[in-house]
Amino acid sequence: MSDDHRPDHAHQAEPDERAADDGGAEGLIRIRGARQHNLKDLDLDIRTGELTVVTGPSGSGKSSLVFDTLFAEGQRRYVETFSAYARQFLDRMDKPAVDRVEGVPPAIAIDQTNPVRSSRSTVGTMTELNDHLKLLFARGAELFDRETALPVRHDSPETIAAELRRRSEAHGDPRLVLTFPVELPANTTPEEIEQWLSASGYTRVQAERTVQREVKDEAPAKGKKAKPAIEAVKLLDVVADRFRIAGAEPARVMEAIETGLKRGGGRLTVYALKDEGEPGRPAAGPPQGGSAPSGGSEPRAAGSVGAHELWKFSTGLHCPESDIRYTEPTPSMFSFNSPVGACDTCRGFGRVIGVDYGLVIPNEKLTLRNGAIKVFQTPAWKECQDDLMRHAEAAGIPRDTPWAKLTPEQQAWVKNGSPQWNGKWNQHWYGVGRFFEYLESKAYKMHIRVLLSKYRSYTECPVCRGARLKTDSLLWRVGTRAQADAVLEPAKRYLPAGVAWSRAQLEALPGLCLHDLMLMPLTDLRRFFDSIAPAQAGSSGEQQALKLLLEEITTRSRYLCEVGIGYLTLDRQSRTPPKPQHPIVEE
Ligand SMILES: [Zn+2]
Repeated sequence: MSDDHRPDHAHQAEPDERAADDGGAEGLIRIRGARQHNLKDLDLDIRTGELTVVTGPSGSGKSSLVFDTLFAEGQRRYVETFSAYARQFLDRMDKPAVDRVEGVPPAIAIDQTNPVRSSRSTVGTMTELNDHLKLLFARGAELFDRETALPVRHDSPETIAAELRRRSEAHGDPRLVLTFPVELPANTTPEEIEQWLSASGYTRVQAERTVQREVKDEAPAKGKKAKPAIEAVKLLDVVADRFRIAGAEPARVMEAIETGLKRGGGRLTVYALKDEGEPGRPAAGPPQGGSAPSGGSEPRAAGSVGAHELWKFSTGLHCPESDIRYTEPTPSMFSFNSPVGACDTCRGFGRVIGVDYGLVIPNEKLTLRNGAIKVFQTPAWKECQDDLMRHAEAAGIPRDTPWAKLTPEQQAWVKNGSPQWNGKWNQHWYGVGRFFEYLESKAYKMHIRVLLSKYRSYTECPVCRGARLKTDSLLWRVGTRAQADAVLEPAKRYLPAGVAWSRAQLEALPGLCLHDLMLMPLTDLRRFFDSIAPAQAGSSGEQQALKLLLEEITTRSRYLCEVGIGYLTLDRQSRTPPKPQHPIVEE
């Protein structure tokens, strides 16, 4: 066992470490007898609170001293601030080969030896707080529908039965037909359906419709976006049971619901029938997405169901109002280092390389005629400058007004082209943006690549707006409204790109999403989790796990605040970190 030495060592070291603290207060780290790797029994004093640079020829033992001895000892003490539970998840460094290290405070090493890791590495990933947050979001967060902003909860047979009662009451106890969807090939004959039904023990089909939908092509042809094949399927709503709920035995209702869900793959469609003689009206609500894959055409109910209300239910994470189904949360959904969670456009970097208008129009005092658009000012692209002049005159865009004085609409015209743009380059102004798109298509030519590189830079990803995660991962929130209000003004909360929520809907939601936490100074993050932690008491296994997770998060965020980097945010790129040179902390 690797930490056999620990209790013994801790015991023996106690007087030493007390002395060490004094040493720390004096501002001295004392290393005695360092023998790690090629170090030869080295004694060394290092002043704290100062920048110390270790230099020397390759192989002289710089890393052995700084990382494998000094940092290893700091890390060991950092790890000791966590519970036994936490320690098992932490990477621990081996105890350094050294007689004594005194006065070393818990330390963070910023290791830049791995460029692949550092490109997506942040304060959050380095301190492992992100690992704990993703577990927390997978277990303890609440989901809100991307269309309606309503909470999305797991429906179960019990919750469906309760909802059926509520709706039946509101509709005057109509006759209900509980059905489950069954999918058959489109060319299934009525005889075959008959056979299938009797073999499965059912006799009635409430409705039948043929649906066109896309077939997912697993391997699209190389270099081409394969046109999805369309296939037709026959969807049957097979009757599980029929009753009016007020008169039905609860056990019978439950059995019908459970059977329907089981046979229908978790989906249940209830027809609430109008009484005879009552004029029919179109079915309310959108037709059921059913088993059609996302992106497929929605099944359309045939005319025969037009006279009834259709109530859709499903188990799992499904919003009955928007009819959107969500996947069960997993930790990787909340990690931008995982393809599951990462925004598809920027692949989790939060930034994409694109045209930087600050570089394209470096001098806003210039007019269009004087060359505001820098890229057009070389003989090679004079034609584009001429196009701009000609179309600007026709469109009434001032050619002799400094760029900064043009209206936002006029600037947008120059950048995005004429609103009448029809793909014909000589008829309308194509815009600076399309000019660069054209260049991209020629980027195999060296001189074009060189040209492009002068006008492009990393800009915020337009899809996730820097959040690095897919929209669905940002619909999950942790905490109550009061807890969120205490640390982050509603107006500053992140509105996920790709939701249909208004700003007001967002601000009325409880808790915070993961990106809110990423943008928050660690001091505020710490306050947020300090306020959440005590409320999560409970005895079930799940609650116990949550409690441990919250403890980890509060311990870590407290530690980071104590070492003096509480002003940082988790999203802070580690490539340009302020380096805490062994920050001093009272142990
Ligand atoms: Zn993105």
